[in-house]
Amino acid sequence: MQKIFISKRTILPDGIKPSAILVTNGQIKEIISLDSVEKIFQELKKYEGVAIEDFGNLVLMPGIVDSHVHVSEPGRTEWEGYWTATQAAAAGGVTTIVDMPLCRCHIVHLSAKEGLDLVREAKNQGLPLTVETCFHYLSLTAEQIPRGAVEYKCCPPIRDAHNKEKLWDALKDGTLDMVVSDHSPCTADLKGDGNFLQAWGGISSLQFGLSVLWTEARTRNFSFQDIARVLCASPAKMCGLDNIKGCLKVGVDADFVVWNPEETIEVSPYLNKEFYGKVYTTIVRGNVVYQDGKFSNKPLGKLLLPEEFLSTI
Ligand SMILES: [Zn+2]
Repeated sequence: MQKIFISKRTILPDGIKPSAILVTNGQIKEIISLDSVEKIFQELKKYEGVAIEDFGNLVLMPGIVDSHVHVSEPGRTEWEGYWTATQAAAAGGVTTIVDMPLCRCHIVHLSAKEGLDLVREAKNQGLPLTVETCFHYLSLTAEQIPRGAVEYKCCPPIRDAHNKEKLWDALKDGTLDMVVSDHSPCTADLKGDGNFLQAWGGISSLQFGLSVLWTEARTRNFSFQDIARVLCASPAKMCGLDNIKGCLKVGVDADFVVWNPEETIEVSPYLNKEFYGKVYTTIVRGNVVYQDGKFSNKPLGKLLLPEEFLSTI
């Protein structure tokens, strides 16, 4: 089964170029990058008969790899199970989720600026360390949160605006490697009635990470390639999936998010705030799993398990 996906703004490892991506049996078989889409169509004559999806000026990026997601199945499937979690992922352009990775030297949800210099020092010494932060620490500030607004409760907590800017500097200079959701949903009643001590801690943001991040990143000189690095390539590498996920190159899975960075959407729990970046289409191994608000009829994802683990079951 072959398909061709075209975008004027395709995010490749070496730049943003008009490209056509030929997908065969769910993997990228060939990438044709030229200086115009017209020239690409000329080049594609050799593939006459193959279905073409032309996304025009929408950004075509590797599917997002969210390496820190809590799916409560089995156990608390009514909070969130794989069915709902993967739909939220698909709607947000996330094509791989990892349910709480167990990596030896990975710092989860770093949120306090005080930790950054220690990380810088460790990395300068060449220590094999990766560090994540989360969408909410790069977007929300303590000053903005109204009293008793328990929907913002998360662990570690949201900090002040100065702290947030330090995290952005660290993301820009590579001290922080990746941004993940730490998606931690619950049923609405568990957020309680304004009592911070009793409310369940966690923010479910799997679906909106790209927009939340891009809205802030676009005002801080982040390129689409920076976005692809912190959302796709770095988490894929940390999880040992970089041979099949996280960037657009020949031989990897054809996982894409197609989105419009100029269009705005409105997002809850970040209520009444407009965000830049609307996801149009999410593709997993060449199959459209989400497009214009609609999902594929059935889940098309695959369970990814490390070989060492498979050999023990
Ligand atoms: Zn977590």
